[in-house]
Amino acid sequence: VLALSFDGDALRLARDQPEPTAGPGEAVVAVLRAGICSTDVEITRGYLGFRGTPGHEWVGRVIAAPDAPALVGTRVVGEINYACGRCTMCTAGMDRHCPTRRVCGIVGADGAFAERLCIPAAQLHRVPDDVPDRAAVFVEPLAAAFAVLEQVPDVAGRRAIILGDGKLGILVAQVLRAAGADVLLSGRHARKLDVARSLGVTVGTPLAGADLVVDASGSPDGLATAVALARPRGIVVMKTTVAAEHRLDLAPAVVNEVSLVGSRCGRFAPAIAALAAGRVAVEPLIDAEYPLADGLAAFERARTRGVLKVLLAVSR
Ligand SMILES: [Zn+2]
Ligand SMILES: [Zn+2]
Repeated sequence: VLALSFDGDALRLARDQPEPTAGPGEAVVAVLRAGICSTDVEITRGYLGFRGTPGHEWVGRVIAAPDAPALVGTRVVGEINYACGRCTMCTAGMDRHCPTRRVCGIVGADGAFAERLCIPAAQLHRVPDDVPDRAAVFVEPLAAAFAVLEQVPDVAGRRAIILGDGKLGILVAQVLRAAGADVLLSGRHARKLDVARSLGVTVGTPLAGADLVVDASGSPDGLATAVALARPRGIVVMKTTVAAEHRLDLAPAVVNEVSLVGSRCGRFAPAIAALAAGRVAVEPLIDAEYPLADGLAAFERARTRGVLKVLLAVSR
């Protein structure tokens, strides 16, 4: 089968990958569409030392599931953290923090930039019929946006600032707004800010004193800016993972007693529900769609400044 593969040196198109077979508890999925994420671009620069097929944002159709035959033929998305299910983190419901987890297309497991994906069947969620493939492919990044509500549950009526006009920033802005927060998004790219505005998100220059600041800037300076914008005893949610180490003066966070909350993946269920109910719009975030065979060109496009989501159309 056809797949994109990273060998530690370059991303290549591999035409002769073996057809995967489902082991115990696993399912094989025919990938329909997949989304290229900033993490995938980082992987092709050596992030986490990953080797193999990247891709963790996808929608597909189950073609084999020996232990869960009812899934065959259904359209699904898949949670990306494959946890052990037995350790203290897993039994406490924190499977996304399982220390021995594999992560789809990121750590120890091949991902979705391929015609076939092999995945533990327990990771799968059915996609409602009224959610098209081009929206379902956003379930994973939208779940990451919903993680903010899991960690800061009470946002209604609060003043929230989102730093960053990228895909995640725009998704977080929509999620917080739908939860009743008073949201302002701040960014530097005219085209991306236009997209945010077209979705009804207020954009502008933020003033200090916010109850909640989400740093989705992707920039090493974002965190210091976020701390400066938070009110005393406010909350800063850190959504930026920057590969480069950076120095940060934490005194303002101490003096203002600001809570710093790290935030990564979220649960899929609220993201699927929000797409089905139309509470979050994702179509305007799509920049372009390429066939998998043109995957290298798709990555080139995804690396271009000012570009939002690039999709791969894998099969139908
Ligand atoms: Zn991602
Ligand atoms: Zn575990």
